[in-house]
Amino acid sequence: MTTYLIRNAQILGGAPQDIHLVDGVFAAIGEQLDVQADIEVDATGLVALPGLVDLHTHLREPGREDAETVLTGTRAAAMGGYTAVHAMANTFPVADSAGVVEQVWRLGQESGYCDVQPVGAVTVGLEGKQLAELGAMHDSAAGVRVFSDDGKCVDDAVIMRRALEYVKAFDGVVAQHAQEPRLTAGAQMNEGLVSGELGLGGWPAVAEESIIARDVLLAAHVGSRVHICHLSTAGSVEIVRWAKAKGWDVTAEVTPHHLLLTDELVRSYDPVYKVNPPLRTAADVEALREALADGTIDAVATDHAPHPAEDKDCEWAVAAMGMVGLETALSVVQQTMVEAGLLNWEGVADRMSHRPARIGRLAGHGRPISVGEPANLVLFDPAYRGVVNPDTFATRSRNSPYKGMDLPGRVHATFLRGEATVLAGELVER
Ligand SMILES: [Zn+2]
Repeated sequence: MTTYLIRNAQILGGAPQDIHLVDGVFAAIGEQLDVQADIEVDATGLVALPGLVDLHTHLREPGREDAETVLTGTRAAAMGGYTAVHAMANTFPVADSAGVVEQVWRLGQESGYCDVQPVGAVTVGLEGKQLAELGAMHDSAAGVRVFSDDGKCVDDAVIMRRALEYVKAFDGVVAQHAQEPRLTAGAQMNEGLVSGELGLGGWPAVAEESIIARDVLLAAHVGSRVHICHLSTAGSVEIVRWAKAKGWDVTAEVTPHHLLLTDELVRSYDPVYKVNPPLRTAADVEALREALADGTIDAVATDHAPHPAEDKDCEWAVAAMGMVGLETALSVVQQTMVEAGLLNWEGVADRMSHRPARIGRLAGHGRPISVGEPANLVLFDPAYRGVVNPDTFATRSRNSPYKGMDLPGRVHATFLRGEATVLAGELVER
């Protein structure tokens, strides 16, 4: 195995230190280490963070390899500083059986760029009618612990209750895409001032908040764990804050796009801004940032949702919902949280690595940068300034809402168990 000596890295933004990577672990950390290595990396000015963990990635394989594959998605993840991603279940076929989750897990192992932890569907075919084989998926080689019908809401309260009861047996968690379907029929964007002016069907905040309120109560009632995907409203924050104050086992995530963008962008009718849940108001953005800062929201999750051009370069009404996000997440968090004085780098490590790994029960990730720990690491250059150009992305799709925007920071290197997946800002071919 290649050994690395990283010089002058600012671990969690602290004073410069050297880091020695040997046999997949941090072998030594200190000032001016006197050790040998195959490759030396000058990390002067770079921040070292534990490898990032995404709780919410759409890798599209099997079934939509025209949008993304496990290989292209994990290459994008590595470029974004990720060492582990959770692959959502809404593939074709749906990841609702041991066979499909094992296939995705194996593809991840073969990619070598990033660990892929498959998410299992809660219900057969994401149809919300009948519980999927949760136990079999957990017992499979993929060892599934996170279950979600993401893209769809588990809207039947009895099914949701049974799922929460079932996963409790093996410390699993149900990750809910909170969207009351009857309140969002025909929805095209956030329901509010802008949707009224544009005459587009509204997706009201209450459709998200009512499901979250129900599910935190259900989780408390059965004594199980629930995780709320992509929180997008100020009201959702209040409910999660209340549930946590009660001591209930509730966690939540926010996407980078909901931390930065608002429904005002929809005035352009550019479908790149069409996403589910929709972009909300500036007041919602403010509440989400504060909640991420104070820990009410546990994690940043990308909801990386690649789509081929033909599904996005069309009329707003028929365009697919979703945005790519793996390669820009850390930059958006730098801009919205670090530069706004809401989080320091230690906080970023907590919200983008430690806590998401803990929620997913990923033992080998989200660990501290200390001697003996698995060498999952990202070196990030916060001083970099550049314009986002999706044509340079590793993801197969180009539907980035940040195209042409100035975003700070860039991943310089990513290490997965001591092996470089990205070096000097470029993918390492494997
Ligand atoms: Zn979703």
